[in-house]
Amino acid sequence: MNKYNKSIVMLEKARKLTPLGAQTYSKSYRYFCENNAPSFMERGKGCRLWDVDGNEYIDFICALGPITIGYSDERINGAIVKQLEKGIIFSQPSPISIELAEKITEIIPCAEMVRFVKNGSDATAAAVRLARAYTGRELMAVSGYHGMQDWFIGSTVNHKGVPKGVRELVKNFEYNNIDSIKLLFEENPDQIAGVILEPIQGNGPNEGYLRELKRLVHRHGAILIFDEVVSGFRYALGGASELYNVNPDIITFGKGMANGMPISAVAGKKEILEMISEGVFISTTFGGEALSMAAALKTIEILQKENAYEKFWDLGNIMLKGIKDLVEKYKMEEVLIVSGLAPHCGYLFEGIGNLSYLDINSVYQQRMIEEGILTVGINNINLAHKKRNIQAYLDASEKAMLDIKKAIQQNSLKGILKGGKVDPVFKRV
Ligand code: PMP
Repeated sequence: MNKYNKSIVMLEKARKLTPLGAQTYSKSYRYFCENNAPSFMERGKGCRLWDVDGNEYIDFICALGPITIGYSDERINGAIVKQLEKGIIFSQPSPISIELAEKITEIIPCAEMVRFVKNGSDATAAAVRLARAYTGRELMAVSGYHGMQDWFIGSTVNHKGVPKGVRELVKNFEYNNIDSIKLLFEENPDQIAGVILEPIQGNGPNEGYLRELKRLVHRHGAILIFDEVVSGFRYALGGASELYNVNPDIITFGKGMANGMPISAVAGKKEILEMISEGVFISTTFGGEALSMAAALKTIEILQKENAYEKFWDLGNIMLKGIKDLVEKYKMEEVLIVSGLAPHCGYLFEGIGNLSYLDINSVYQQRMIEEGILTVGINNINLAHKKRNIQAYLDASEKAMLDIKKAIQQNSLKGILKGGKVDPVFKRV
């Protein structure tokens, strides 16, 4: 009897109905060891999830970032229900949209105005359209991931279906390398409308990098956009812009702002945002949906009241120190690369001998799940996590390392991997 029986049966059915059986690539079976991992979650509470077979996990994925307070938090549920009784969405804006806009402009240093949308991709697409309209230029320089819309995804390996003309309007630059973006400006004089980046990547920005980048972008007459869909509400209430005290012209948020309810935002300078009133078209039917706004207000209130960021950094630092010590103890430096700042840290995987980085990832993933820990390598901390949960993660990590050691010693996965291999949509080259 496989402990994932129900998941396996459901996945078979789901795959007939939905591509990959999931609505989000990185939540699909391809990111776990097929047939030896859960594929569907039934419910969550705090930092825990229960799969459809009744197996329990301490979750460090946090739904890919949205969960900042914890699953099914009663205070947030209460705020949603209170709004639900009044209504979900109306024929004109709800007053709660003013309350939330006021809150965002209060806590986000660069936000003079804000517009709410639904997904991170909506927010980044809006930011890019604003930058192009404001400057009258077309090229965008990017560093990081910015969502599923044509303007960005066309610049990646997953560009099928995006017209060539659109793809040619995006240029990549290397994070933490000022010369890389300098070169793009030199090669494309007066053509770059905006520079959009995830301001925290890997171990964060080098000293002074974001400030120097801002100077350079402005010197070339372009707009600086921080894509804080991941970093917002995770490292600090005001995201990286608050943490590093660098204000971009436009900022985007999504994921963590409403503890799982679907809402995102594009915010920034009034003079740029006001263009939305004058023909820069950014508008969606569900943009003003009030349940998500109620959840966002309550989430922000809890994050503020409970010193969330002190907790995220403290717990994350325990995790970071723990994994560094384990990597050193088991001499795993070649295959497990400790990466990230405390609130969003974990391992990146590298190959060795006959084993690819995905082989190492799969052995790790399999053991973590067997030990009741849900992780995809890099973790998110939420307010419901306690020190003992971090310890459980470290104990499981230690066991995973012993499995990896065995695989390295025999130079194969034979007899180790019981299910399929992790097979992500974006593979490293
Ligand atoms: N920007 C960043 C930095 C992201 O990580 C993501 C999603 N992973 C997006 C934008 C797109 O957000 P969404 O998937 O909500 O459209």
